[in-house]
Amino acid sequence: MKKSFIWQIMVAFILAILVGLLFGEKATYVEPLGNLFLRLIKFIIIPLILATIIVGVTSSGNMKKLGRLGGKTITFYLITSFIAISIGILSGIIFSPGSGTDIQVDNPTVEVNETEGVVQTILNIIPTNPIESLTNGDILQIIFFAIFIGIGITIVGEKAEPVRRFFDGLAEIMYKITEIIMKLVPLGVFGLLAPVIGTYGLSVLLPLIKLITAMVIAGIIHVLLVYTFAVKTFGKMNPLLFLKGIFPAATVAFSTCSSSGTLPVTMKNTQENLNVSKETSSFVLPLGATINMDGTAIYQGVAVLFIAQYFGISLSFTQLLTVALIATLASIGTAGVPGAGMVMLTMVLAAVNLPLEGIALIAGIDRILDMIRTAINVVGDASASVVVEESERKWI
Ligand code: ASP
Repeated sequence: MKKSFIWQIMVAFILAILVGLLFGEKATYVEPLGNLFLRLIKFIIIPLILATIIVGVTSSGNMKKLGRLGGKTITFYLITSFIAISIGILSGIIFSPGSGTDIQVDNPTVEVNETEGVVQTILNIIPTNPIESLTNGDILQIIFFAIFIGIGITIVGEKAEPVRRFFDGLAEIMYKITEIIMKLVPLGVFGLLAPVIGTYGLSVLLPLIKLITAMVIAGIIHVLLVYTFAVKTFGKMNPLLFLKGIFPAATVAFSTCSSSGTLPVTMKNTQENLNVSKETSSFVLPLGATINMDGTAIYQGVAVLFIAQYFGISLSFTQLLTVALIATLASIGTAGVPGAGMVMLTMVLAAVNLPLEGIALIAGIDRILDMIRTAINVVGDASASVVVEESERKWI
């Protein structure tokens, strides 16, 4: 069953490439199929996160465990993001994708993405109106709210039992719906990828092929070095089984360019294929889909060097260090939606005084880079869930 599902996805991939190449722009006719799938998985996200986190907190039943889980998860996310950005910078230095590149850009006007500062950003995690967070789909606020409801249910005990059972039932329902919608993954992959392949002609891709290659190689190195090492050493899992298990989610991420949108599939894959408990996955993965973006961090490293090289500006070691630190923060602040990483790139460019117009150079192919970085983002979240799960076993 599982094997044939992976095959179906592969076939969808190949068909998408063929249709894209053969029909060019006309491949956009299949876009509604992609959008159908996208809307179906998006509608599960909010109730799924809310219910599973509440159930996770109530079943863990103690604050100590929750704190431990949070501490380990955030530490893993920070370390891997910093390694990712370092690999991205190194890849940018080694492959030098921006030198000798000639791209024509019309009318490059770019504005810096204003941030609210660290304190306000942290304060923003606390919702003033939880219903508003639910309707806006603000995942960090929903996580906060759900954790507190879970804690409340645990403390109140008997009287809150009907509420707990309600969310328990809701979580099971959402898992079931995810299972049904997952059957459409091959269709979604086909419907989302074929138009992208049809729209991006070689003339758009070729001038930036060095950039794409630098990004892909950095991504592969990160996956092979960091995730397989972490999964094998700390997660006690065969890295090949890990990659195979998370493959469907990676393809959904690749075609949707949204880690938040992929969340239901990531949760399903980690629970069923990687044996991560619902308790761990329902906490580690929504958090990861919002704050852990290794692919985005790699992208920012490569892109900053690309832009510097294009304009003939060399960056000092201190500036590279600044890039690494700011990009780690920028990747945390990046939302798990298409194109968000490029918006955050302005922050990194501004930090080292690079021309913001540089963004316009890559904007034309950002979708392609987004596919690569989102797939890495999701695989990174899954690797954290495997590592955290294994370390939690010691405490049981
Ligand atoms: N699209 C990415 C994601 O959802 C974020 C980004 O643009 O870097 O993970």
